[in-house]
Amino acid sequence: MFDATPSWSEIDHVLLDMDGTVLDLAFDNYFWRELVPRRYALAAGLTPEQALSELLSRLSGVEHSLSRYSIDYWSEITGLDLSALEREVRDRVAFRGGSAAFLEAVRASGRSLWLVTNAPPTSCRMKLEQVGLDAVFDVVISSHELGVPKEDAVFWRRLQAQRPFPVERALFADDSLPVLRAARDHGIAHLVAMRQPDSTRPEREIAEFPSAACLGALLPL
Ligand SMILES: [Mg+2]
Repeated sequence: MFDATPSWSEIDHVLLDMDGTVLDLAFDNYFWRELVPRRYALAAGLTPEQALSELLSRLSGVEHSLSRYSIDYWSEITGLDLSALEREVRDRVAFRGGSAAFLEAVRASGRSLWLVTNAPPTSCRMKLEQVGLDAVFDVVISSHELGVPKEDAVFWRRLQAQRPFPVERALFADDSLPVLRAARDHGIAHLVAMRQPDSTRPEREIAEFPSAACLGALLPL
């Protein structure tokens, strides 16, 4: 495991994942692993454990596809309005440690700041508004708009075609190793893996990429 120490003089383009990188994955873990199974269990007459195990088995069938990240897909599976449920608990959406200061520093430095997420556009907008980030990023890209998730090489080719950016002068931070591999294969020069996407869970050991517990650890620029 090695700490990311970006060479900032070689970077003028910063791309960040949302959930688990800018925002605390504690929200998503609570939502998908506790609240949704509990509500689904009530609606379907299952125990919460049965509901969770059914959802997890469905999940394994759509891993690394857009459906896995689609609120509409899971609403259909469960028969619940999950967009409404997400809004119901929106006050739990929170920054991961040091994110606010990091974003401020990147903006103050004049670098381009992009958000690149697998979250659907509505969910993404709701979360960014909730933490006051709706006007902070120069560009916000949801993979749902490009038709493939970030872990797919096609995503990066389409992004590059629609919005060209210099891969050799770009830094990209994400908590998903499959996503980071796709970004590396695409040629993005500076990669950071987030070791502790959920502040309530322990740090992970990551050997494959330079890593940081949270964005705050990358300061100062
Ligand atoms: Mg993430």
